[in-house]
Amino acid sequence: MPGVGAGPIAGRVLVVEDEAALANVLVTYLEREGFEIEVCGDGAEALARASEREPDVVLLDLGLPGLDGVEVCRRLRTFSDCYVVIVTARVDEVDRLIGLAVGADDYVTKPFSPREVVARVQAMMRRPRVRRDVAPAADAGSTGVLEVGSLRIDPDARETSVGGVPVDLTRTEFDVLAALVGHPRRAWSRADLTAEVWGDDWFGDPHLIDVHIGNIRRKLGDDATEPTFIRTIRGYGYRLGPCA
Ligand code: CA
Repeated sequence: MPGVGAGPIAGRVLVVEDEAALANVLVTYLEREGFEIEVCGDGAEALARASEREPDVVLLDLGLPGLDGVEVCRRLRTFSDCYVVIVTARVDEVDRLIGLAVGADDYVTKPFSPREVVARVQAMMRRPRVRRDVAPAADAGSTGVLEVGSLRIDPDARETSVGGVPVDLTRTEFDVLAALVGHPRRAWSRADLTAEVWGDDWFGDPHLIDVHIGNIRRKLGDDATEPTFIRTIRGYGYRLGPCA
């Protein structure tokens, strides 16, 4: 496996959590798995650290003093494409949906099992490596650009545009869309699409995919009731929509 002999660091994680006891638990578990950890308990400091250290994953508590987690995530997205996992004490839907709408990739609710959090972080770390290293288009010598109607996706550059206008997708949103566009005739079950993006052993909320699809549609200007790009298959999942 590439990288294993090069060093023990599994990835850099920034833990943004104002409860010291909770932060310590996360640090203990993540360090045990070889992650390099930084901790801060304040939103403004989190942004400074993130821009300085370029973490692979940010574990972001939503309930922070001062600048709250949603605002931290929104600002983080203006300069970083690190993975963001929201940690929230509020179990109501609105809280997590807002977090995901501003660019988070996944979420866990408090109280959480530290092992589960570690597993989620590891799942994130596996994703980009697999997808970048096994880019078949590069080997085939083609540009790999996928076009469906006015939608254009470049998997190598990880760029998306509609009608020539760039669309700013998060890494997770891009991977979901690339899976759909890469298999234009395939109807994806939620489980299969989730496994394609997060890996087979991911065990989060099965409806996370719906939230990301919602974000993608909004950014593409697609209408769920009359889709151009992504069609919902009721009770099953999604496929690339009718494209004129
Ligand atoms: Ca808190």
